[in-house]
Amino acid sequence: MVRPGAGVVSLAFSSVAFSAALLCAAPQDAARAGAAAQAALPRASAAAIEADLRALVGFGTRHVLSPVDLPGRGTGAARDFLEARFRDCVERSGGRLVVERQQGQVAVRRQGMPAECTVVNVMATLPGTSDPERVYVVAGHYDSRNGNGADGQGDAPGANDDGSGTCVALEVCRLLCARQFPATIVFCADDGEEQGLLGSALHAKALAERGVFVDGMLGNDIVGNTLGMDGERRREYLRVFSYAPSGNDSSGRSLARALSWTARRMDGFRVQLVFRGDRYGRGGDHRSFFEAGFPSVRCTEPREDFSRQHQDLVMREGKPYGDVVEFVDFDYVADVATLNALAIAELASAPRAPTLVRVEGARDAYDTFVDVGEIEGASAYEFVWRATTAPDWEGALLVPATALEFGGRNASARQVLKGVCIDDVVVGVRSVGADGSRSRVTAAPEPDATAFRAAATRGR
Ligand SMILES: [Zn+2]
Repeated sequence: MVRPGAGVVSLAFSSVAFSAALLCAAPQDAARAGAAAQAALPRASAAAIEADLRALVGFGTRHVLSPVDLPGRGTGAARDFLEARFRDCVERSGGRLVVERQQGQVAVRRQGMPAECTVVNVMATLPGTSDPERVYVVAGHYDSRNGNGADGQGDAPGANDDGSGTCVALEVCRLLCARQFPATIVFCADDGEEQGLLGSALHAKALAERGVFVDGMLGNDIVGNTLGMDGERRREYLRVFSYAPSGNDSSGRSLARALSWTARRMDGFRVQLVFRGDRYGRGGDHRSFFEAGFPSVRCTEPREDFSRQHQDLVMREGKPYGDVVEFVDFDYVADVATLNALAIAELASAPRAPTLVRVEGARDAYDTFVDVGEIEGASAYEFVWRATTAPDWEGALLVPATALEFGGRNASARQVLKGVCIDDVVVGVRSVGADGSRSRVTAAPEPDATAFRAAATRGR
């Protein structure tokens, strides 16, 4: 039964027959209200992003083999600039923000490149107050390339790929640095992405080796062009790619849905979930985090213009090629930064996501029993569900922690979802903090065992 104090929320914009009974109880749209952690958070500044991006592009190239000792050109100058921008935030953070360079000598597997090169990630860490071992990462890669991936001397402005994502990381740092969050947030400008995700691999590996609990990594890569090759401008949404070893409910997919949940608070902006790790034949820094076992997503503009990526600055048949700043839509980059900031503010304020979620169908009715493990700091739990074919959560039931009875060997509590037939839906639970902040959703395991599923898809 639905306990007193529980509120059923419709997350759906289309009608969902199986949950109609629940939706009638007290329909409201909690998503629009937002968490207190997001209240009064200013939106990102397109002007600040433009200033940063013009400065980055002004260094001519940020290729890993470009000059490191020239004041106005090459990756060395870019690293100094990025570090200085992060240091500008230290005072506003009350001295809490820790700015550092993470340097490594790493193997390179690109033809024409030396067997090893130095990569330098530039990052700023805002330590969490009560759960500092839980970490969120907001990243873009600052290195760039032109038509020849091994060319460290020629111009490679890298305005959109990925000056835009780098500027998102800088701007989100400025937006959040003066606030306090229970969890730790790392703002990162990664190096060496174009040479095989080198900087992010170094970063993810270091975090994994230290046993850090990374609960989410947002890779912002190519988030600044809104004019498609078809001449149409699309600026009302962001594509969010996520890996999943199998099925549609990996921790990365859960993180992607958390972004789509957040986007509901932004007028005229939404998330387009893409249920694959990345575009065909392409990669990004979020992959390094996925491979280290951390939830991660890739944020990318709606329609890419491939004449602006990995190109020399040339004119061919009257058409300009190259990744120049003139083609960046700064207002769009600001929307992407705002979404990143809102999402991270909520996740870093929320309790941890539930670790134990199990479901069982009632045998005498079309109800679902959900067992959830207790989470420290959770003042409520939100039970969510969606049709197995639906991309995102469609129904939700918010239950105060005081209305649940935790006990037994697993310190778990049982909630009934009346009228929800488990065989037709995916069910998950997220923790809710006192200020309304929601964690990622933890989905219940599928009924078929992994080994059975692997056998069923063999030879596909
Ligand atoms: Zn890129």
